[in-house]
Amino acid sequence: MFLEGKRALVTGSTSGIGLAVARALHAEGAEVVLSGFGEPETIAALCKELSARHVPGDLSQREGCEALMAGAGPVDVLVNNAGMQHVAPIEDFPVDKWDMIIALNLTAAFHTSRLAVPHMKLAGWGRIVNVASAHSVTASPFKSAYVSAKHGLAGLTKTLALELATDGVTANCISPGYVWTPLVENQIPDTMKARGMTREEVINDVLLVRQPTKRFVQPEDVGAMAVFLCSAAGDNITGANMNMDGGWTAE
Ligand code: NAD
Repeated sequence: MFLEGKRALVTGSTSGIGLAVARALHAEGAEVVLSGFGEPETIAALCKELSARHVPGDLSQREGCEALMAGAGPVDVLVNNAGMQHVAPIEDFPVDKWDMIIALNLTAAFHTSRLAVPHMKLAGWGRIVNVASAHSVTASPFKSAYVSAKHGLAGLTKTLALELATDGVTANCISPGYVWTPLVENQIPDTMKARGMTREEVINDVLLVRQPTKRFVQPEDVGAMAVFLCSAAGDNITGANMNMDGGWTAE
């Protein structure tokens, strides 16, 4: 329970990877602050399960990020995880989707980090964990906004690591390959349309084709990595991009 006495904010923790990270940090004793959308009953049940508070806020908006940080209070562990995807050829890519993905997947992490860092510096300890993606170091067609935002997030992470190197604050990315969550499931219909494929073809020939293990990463794996980065063993890991992609980016 090495995170007892520490407050951890996980963005996008009402679902998928963020929820698994929140559960893993809670299991190590952290006071968890949840963020993200969902049915009120579901969110209430998660708050009960994790003895957590939920702070609402649309993180695609600067005001939403600021409201979240004000509502959360000082945080020792910041996990920037909220994200979304849209799949379309560049010439058809909806401009509002581009703006939304850059805002949520990249700019939100800038806002939460700039607001979280003063307390971390003062405390002489802090952890920033950015859930990036294999798409932070490699690209796929039809994902221009997502790939751009994730590459940007990896750059932001390295910059934070350098700025905070002597403050006891680390900043790292975790970069999963395909993890079976609603985000992946929801992009299957658009990918079917963009590539003219069946559901099975998308799963086997698009999603898992890049993952040599031929297995989806589990959300709990990402939670365990986040816990490791928060541990004392993570004191000297900063500016890293920890891939958890079944060998995808080894190719
Ligand atoms: P998910 O769709 O299951 O969860 C997304 C979370 O973000 C939810 O809690 C949702 O409510 C929240 N969210 C969405 N829009 C928001 C907004 N405007 N403001 C605040 N919160 C918002 O997705 P996931 O698969 O768990 O993905 C989580 C992160 O992991 C994302 O950044 C994603 O890019 C990244 N990732 C996912 C995969 C994968 O295969 N699933 C792979 C690599 C990286």
